[in-house]
Amino acid sequence: MLRGKTALVTGASRGIGRAIALRLAENGAGVAVVYAGNEAAARETCEKARGYGVKAQAFRCDVSDFIQTKALVKDVIEAFGGLDILINNAGIVRDGLVLSMKEEDFDRVIGTNLKGAFNMIKHTYQHFMRQRGGRIINISSVAGIAGNAGQANYASAKAGVIGLTKTVARELASRGVTCNAIAPGFIETDMTSKLPGNVKEAALHAIPMKRMGAPEDVAKLAVFLSGEGAAYITGEVIRVDGGLSM
Ligand code: NDP
Repeated sequence: MLRGKTALVTGASRGIGRAIALRLAENGAGVAVVYAGNEAAARETCEKARGYGVKAQAFRCDVSDFIQTKALVKDVIEAFGGLDILINNAGIVRDGLVLSMKEEDFDRVIGTNLKGAFNMIKHTYQHFMRQRGGRIINISSVAGIAGNAGQANYASAKAGVIGLTKTVARELASRGVTCNAIAPGFIETDMTSKLPGNVKEAALHAIPMKRMGAPEDVAKLAVFLSGEGAAYITGEVIRVDGGLSM
């Protein structure tokens, strides 16, 4: 379905990003696996992706850094000979009530989760425009739709990602480039494994489907949005949350 396409996935060393990279690979896309520091995990993603017979290469890059992301995009396009799908997935949390949240924790989360997506879009924009085609998928969160106590930084960044998505969708629609956001609920990854037991229990109680999501649940939608079936879908925010925020 995606044979001959190249996808760049940020935060693909672990969790949701890894699942997306592997599903895209399974569907025939070459994958640029972007990570922040966990090289061993990024290499493992690449090995697994190559198992599907596609090209896969790891790239270290801090997405919050404008200069690094510029070099990254150039390197990926050179290495793969093109770029068709951009998945902005890299993200961090630094939770705390506003009362106790440090300025640095606000800035770090906005820098990675929101500016990171801007940086990647900024540096791929002309390429997609000239190509007159491409898919941009930003990973937001239900926290960006509904807010979440203890996550002022994270929810602000994820709400910002939704504004960014709709703006880019409008700017690039006439060029055949779509831009959509996925808003996951509670997904089982390293990010949520550190949550206290009582928070997890409360979350499970609130989810109508009574289970946490798997990274695969998000990855399947990312593959659909990357493919031909989603050619006329743009500016959308699609929740993958087991009914949590309906
Ligand atoms: P993980 O913590 O499991 O993985 C985070 C990934 O992001 C890693 O690959 C990490 O690289 C990478 N990363 C972190 N900071 C940077 C950076 N500055 N530059 C480049 N890469 C970076 O997270 P999840 O898989 O759980 O989350 C993925 C996305 O989904 C995030 O945007 C998150 O906000 C969002 N999301 C997650 C939910 C959940 O319940 N898990 C719910 C809603 C949204 P490395 O391994 O090198 O550290």
